[in-house]
Amino acid sequence: MNNFEIRELPGKGRAMIALKNFTTDEVIFEEEPFVSRQFSWNVAYGYAACDHCMRPLETVLENVRRLASDPQVEVPLLQHDPTAQWVAQFTQCPRCKVRYCSEDCLMEAQKRYHRVACMGAFRSDDTHPINVLNETWKKMHYPPETGSIMLIVRLMALYQQSTKKAEFLEQLQSFQSLIVNREQKIYHKMLGENFEQQMEQLYLAFCNAFSGEEFSMFKTPDAFKTLMAILGTNSQGIATSVLSQWVVKVSDLPLSDSEKAQLDTVIDGLYAKVGEFAGEFLNNEGSGLYLLQSKINHSCVPNACSTFPYSNDIIVLKALAPIQQGDEICISYLDECMLERSRHSRHKVLRENYVFICQCPKCRAQASDPDETSDESEDDDEMDDYDDNDDMN
Ligand SMILES: [Zn+2]
Ligand SMILES: [Zn+2]
Ligand SMILES: [Zn+2]
Repeated sequence: MNNFEIRELPGKGRAMIALKNFTTDEVIFEEEPFVSRQFSWNVAYGYAACDHCMRPLETVLENVRRLASDPQVEVPLLQHDPTAQWVAQFTQCPRCKVRYCSEDCLMEAQKRYHRVACMGAFRSDDTHPINVLNETWKKMHYPPETGSIMLIVRLMALYQQSTKKAEFLEQLQSFQSLIVNREQKIYHKMLGENFEQQMEQLYLAFCNAFSGEEFSMFKTPDAFKTLMAILGTNSQGIATSVLSQWVVKVSDLPLSDSEKAQLDTVIDGLYAKVGEFAGEFLNNEGSGLYLLQSKINHSCVPNACSTFPYSNDIIVLKALAPIQQGDEICISYLDECMLERSRHSRHKVLRENYVFICQCPKCRAQASDPDETSDESEDDDEMDDYDDNDDMN
């Protein structure tokens, strides 16, 4: 342990500092989420994942057939199905029938939140206040999803079932302070004007779903907005795919060149089929809050990245480049394609989604780029959107 520490940096707030040297690809830490949850539409579309750890609950054949909406599709080399080692352990809650990848996940869920969260037969009742809340959310957030109100629902259950409520609140607070401590007075776009009416609706549905006295501290409009802001600025996307795991496995097989070419054709064909029906939405997707990982600042030239090598919600933070003792450890909050765009475009996304202005070495080096002056102008923002679309092609 003590490979790193969380320290306050002047003008920057909290930062993760390396206490030893790391080589490229070295593991910096592994972390289980404080809370995680599959996205609401992802569940509604039938993407099967463990309700606790998000591990996929389909065989690769089931996965491909569902995504392609074609029960005739065949997948070769099924002995390399990554779910083969778990499929026999799949289980479910005897009351509400929610599914888990293993007895361990079922027990962990029961121990931490599912005793109070289990809806029993009401799970399929559209008029149940939790389901009403979820539907209210889904009508506001169509795919591609970036969060789910169900993460907050699980947080409430964790709180309700917790025997150490003070500790729980302190941990939850540690996400919140990330927002409050920012010097820049910028509001998250979830809390902006456009969202006001929707927030109100969501807030009412939330109060309805958590009518008990014990939730009173979360039910002021400000407390609810804070929960939403935590969700918006701290949650980490989690995506698992049994198909892509299978592809990784079979691509590693010792095959002859002609067999490899043949396999590549099959893989391309499978992706074409699933792409035709499911488009880009091929993964089990959700998000989680991570106590440690959320303390890592963003850089447009990150030296670390979050990976999910176990096909569940456990993060493994790895060095992307050599890190020296005393260096700040940074990840990118932007995807690769976004990282390549102009400083202006990056700043716009970071400002709107994460409420800060990036001062990383790359941004400082590009500070005199011409788009710098256009930051606050609406016309230029439109131009910028136009440019961004261009970038995508
Ligand atoms: Zn699981
Ligand atoms: Zn249950
Ligand atoms: Zn930057």
